[in-house]
Amino acid sequence: MKFIAADVVSAFPQSADPSDRTAVRQRTLKTAIGCTGIGLHSGAKVTMTLQPAEAGTGIRFRRTDVKGRGAIVPALWSHVGDTRMNSCLVNEAGVQIGTVEHLLSALAGSGIDNCLIEINGAEVPVMDGSAAPFLFLIECAGTVEQTAPRRAIRVLKAVSATDGDKTATLSPASGFSVRFDIDFASQAIARQSFALAMTRGAFKSEISRARTFGFEQEVAWLRANGLARGGSLDNAVVIDSTGTKVLNDDGLRYGDEFVRHKILDAVGDLYLAGAPILGHFHGVRSGHALNNRLLQALFADQTAWTWTTIAPGSAAAQATPASAPALALAANG
Ligand SMILES: [Zn+2]
Repeated sequence: MKFIAADVVSAFPQSADPSDRTAVRQRTLKTAIGCTGIGLHSGAKVTMTLQPAEAGTGIRFRRTDVKGRGAIVPALWSHVGDTRMNSCLVNEAGVQIGTVEHLLSALAGSGIDNCLIEINGAEVPVMDGSAAPFLFLIECAGTVEQTAPRRAIRVLKAVSATDGDKTATLSPASGFSVRFDIDFASQAIARQSFALAMTRGAFKSEISRARTFGFEQEVAWLRANGLARGGSLDNAVVIDSTGTKVLNDDGLRYGDEFVRHKILDAVGDLYLAGAPILGHFHGVRSGHALNNRLLQALFADQTAWTWTTIAPGSAAAQATPASAPALALAANG
């Protein structure tokens, strides 16, 4: 695995001197845009609209089916409740928004700092199980620069979270890069590793289309536990009960789609930090729960991170992530 250091700029920002008055500015959507779909776990049909939002307000959800102040649910690590099979947010009033990670991943990959997501139900629509439909919506709406400088969280020292043989680590780096290693008993997945620097366009081309996945034999258990009710071959890669075959007629979108989806999830989970992270993430068999525990560990140690602004010329200052080809190098196996 190698990174091309000079290319570690993109939708994911470079660091800069906090006193730099020419810092990159925050971004929001140019216009509102919506979609309709079903929740992966609830199976419920929902309508969702991504709205432009004022600088400094961050990413927030508003449940349009809930009255009053309790309708707002901030997309922050401190509001993560259930991490069983997805990242679910919950506010002080107990109002929830489930399966936020793929949408958060698309917002991170698009360099969106501020967005109000209006939704008339308790779960973000799963769409095709990847972040690509959300990226498409954001690209259709377009983005606009705001007056406030963009802030990022610079990792100052390595922080880890561990659960048995699973680990998640953040360590210092000039930009944002990710490595993920998985090892499943299923032959269809087995061992996969993927690493990339989030260069301009890399998120879109290398990560955004990777779908969520599951196992045929888990479906009954998941449904008995109120999960995966909306899941189907239209929105997930499903592996057969022998663990050797992908049941989807069209096969995989990437040969190593599984590990790429784990990166997609991690990018979304990490965006719940409330700002882009300048650091290197390494996940080994990690998942939503451990990714959240990693952010808890980072913010529990005030010597482990600091706020910074972002240098001009980096991704966030430039056009959309789609405007240039990916320059990431990946390592498989
Ligand atoms: Zn996912």
